[in-house]
Amino acid sequence: MTTRFIFVTGGVVSSLGKGIAASALGSLLQASGYKVRLRKLDPYLNVDPGTMSPTQHGEVYVTDDGAETDLDLGHYERFTGVATRQSDNVTTGRIYSTVIAKERRGDYLGATVQVIPHVTDAIKEFIRADLTDEDFCICEIGGTVGDIESLPFLEAIRQLGNELGEERSLFVHVTLLPYIKTAGELKTKPTQHSVKELLSVGIQPQILLCRSDRPIPEAERRKIGLFCNIKQERVIAALDVDTIYVVPTNYHEQGFDEQVLRYFGLYDGKTPDLSRWQNIVARMREPEGEVNIAIVGKYTALLDSYKSLNEALIHGGIANKMRVNLQWIDSEVFEREDAVQQLEGVHGILVPGGFGERGTEGKIRAAQFARERKIPYFGICFGMQMAVIEAARHLGGVPRATSSEFGASDQAVVGLMTEWMRGDQLEIRKQGGNLGGTMRLGAYACDLLKGSKVHAIYGQDQISERHRHRYEVNINYREQLEKAGLVFCGLSPDGALPEMVERKDHPWFIGVQFHPELKSKPFAPHPLFRSFIEAALHQSRLV
Ligand code: GLN
Repeated sequence: MTTRFIFVTGGVVSSLGKGIAASALGSLLQASGYKVRLRKLDPYLNVDPGTMSPTQHGEVYVTDDGAETDLDLGHYERFTGVATRQSDNVTTGRIYSTVIAKERRGDYLGATVQVIPHVTDAIKEFIRADLTDEDFCICEIGGTVGDIESLPFLEAIRQLGNELGEERSLFVHVTLLPYIKTAGELKTKPTQHSVKELLSVGIQPQILLCRSDRPIPEAERRKIGLFCNIKQERVIAALDVDTIYVVPTNYHEQGFDEQVLRYFGLYDGKTPDLSRWQNIVARMREPEGEVNIAIVGKYTALLDSYKSLNEALIHGGIANKMRVNLQWIDSEVFEREDAVQQLEGVHGILVPGGFGERGTEGKIRAAQFARERKIPYFGICFGMQMAVIEAARHLGGVPRATSSEFGASDQAVVGLMTEWMRGDQLEIRKQGGNLGGTMRLGAYACDLLKGSKVHAIYGQDQISERHRHRYEVNINYREQLEKAGLVFCGLSPDGALPEMVERKDHPWFIGVQFHPELKSKPFAPHPLFRSFIEAALHQSRLV
């Protein structure tokens, strides 16, 4: 195997966009004809982010093979189109669980189990596992250099760099150059310190990616190069941008991909074709109109909690050459009767995924408003469940319809799933079981009803989409729900699980049990988002 490894670390502050940097580099290497994989090493102790609050850690990104992962994996997919896997994200928690399980089995044959070499070996094994013919594996190390938790990861990549040699390993460090107004200068000292910190654990980065809000003067680049022991042309400016999709083109203009390829002795002087990215950015910067979409959810305080959704809506806009203005609304607002007026004039309403009872009556009211006023409605996962409860209560003769997620009920139109099929395997869950990694996760097939709206939108009889849920619309209520105007337009292949519903009497009212936003790409907008924005565009012409 001749995969080359590019390790991306971050310094000075967090939130520098290491994930976007790694993703954009991946897309540039692809444009030069190379096969890439991207991986994320997260230093926190959770086994995976599945149990973390989205308002703390951002969205949980789900892969086809059912892993609950860091949201950066979403960027990796959106920039490279390469489907991520369980093996692309690891945390300290997972590494330690593996090491401790091995110790309990007696696999260490009496050795004292230590961070070095046992934990670092486990990290190195993870980094090199599950790769076949990739030319590059880009590994992003979460956190900031200097964090206590990062140390075993930095030690592991230091060792790996040594073992692989320079021909097969490269260290890229992302830092910040703050602009100090009173001095009228970009300051290089934090970058110098951050590189020093890396050096103290034995890592000399070969390329620096310097985030800054303005161009970096030549003199500053020279200075950084000098102090950090890095060639000046390998000090790359990463300037602030209006859209993340311009990053690949910007990096290319700054010579990032050229320097990476030169480092490995692969540079051939050819200009990669970046028209894909240029087209996307052109469509975003010069839209032909705009639509207003209200997102009625619970985790609206931190936009990262709906990262993929936000991007998928932008992709829907790109497909229709529309700017999509998002109005994030906390659903609790709608628990007051008069508040629905806030939705007056929006061209589409989206209720996204969510957990727990708080704010649900507001979501139900938003679904009702969309149904009655014939405003395009897109219910995703929880948003589908809420729309079904709304229809059951108000049109289906099930007045106390609810979800068993909120407590025991004799009218649980949405109920806990205890058994379902994964391929030909039966999955079983019990009430009160462990919460981590036990939902219905990952890709499942869904059969589409011929003649339905969703069948026309996808243009396929069967689709595969990613799931993350514990509750499901109860098929036994089919009769009442059909009476309430809902069409069961998508079912699991065994016919047991309602995966999609739509309304006959409405221009665009679709609920889906899965998360289509996870698979949307800027260069391949998801059909449901494309269609939803198109419906919103029609709506905008009516109001
Ligand atoms: N809480 C719901 C369930 O577990 C919906 C989950 C979601 O929206 N992802 O089924």
